[in-house]
Amino acid sequence: MLDKKQEVIEYAKKLNTENLSPLRSGNISIRGVNEEIDGFFITPSGIKYDDLTTDSIVFLELNENNNIKKISDKVINPSSEWRFHQDIYIEKRDAHAIVHAHSANAAAVSAHGKNIPAFHYMVALAGGNNIKCAEYATFGTKELSQNIIKALDGRKACLMSNHGQVAFGKSLSEAFELAGEIENICHQYINTIKLGQPKILSDEEMKKILDKTKDYKKN
Ligand SMILES: [Zn+2]
Repeated sequence: MLDKKQEVIEYAKKLNTENLSPLRSGNISIRGVNEEIDGFFITPSGIKYDDLTTDSIVFLELNENNNIKKISDKVINPSSEWRFHQDIYIEKRDAHAIVHAHSANAAAVSAHGKNIPAFHYMVALAGGNNIKCAEYATFGTKELSQNIIKALDGRKACLMSNHGQVAFGKSLSEAFELAGEIENICHQYINTIKLGQPKILSDEEMKKILDKTKDYKKN
């Protein structure tokens, strides 16, 4: 349990140091069990990442009714965006860690509220032939969470309109790396659309890429 809390702290600090999410923005969580209860450890609300200690990481129970139920700390509140972390863990059995970031380029692209097409084959890293953008809703709401779940259909990452991005993986290092890749793809996309409409890879070609990615992961 302590290891998982420390891992959350390590990656939360990286949000700042690796320029993935400035200041207190973004949040990190990891699936876990606490006192035989299934749930997840998540960064708290209102504490600078540099000031985090294992006592400030909050454990929340996975609750189908989407109620907030803190098992540990009574004083410290979880990130105000805990709701979509909970829903992703409930919906996606292969999600073991989640990184949510207000990364500069993903936030910029997200403000257009459009999916990113296959202008580059690396778009496949999100799990399909485009990167979807979840419709806007106020942060922390059930509505935003539902929009995210919709945009994550068949995907491991998505943009969040007028907000940022979210990525999940089998580990925090995998989720963090994917969030970094999404940010990089968004940077490339901003540059490519400056030159006009890019050539988009066909669904057939993207299927080949997706099959290759699957094979690569098996090795
Ligand atoms: Zn956010």
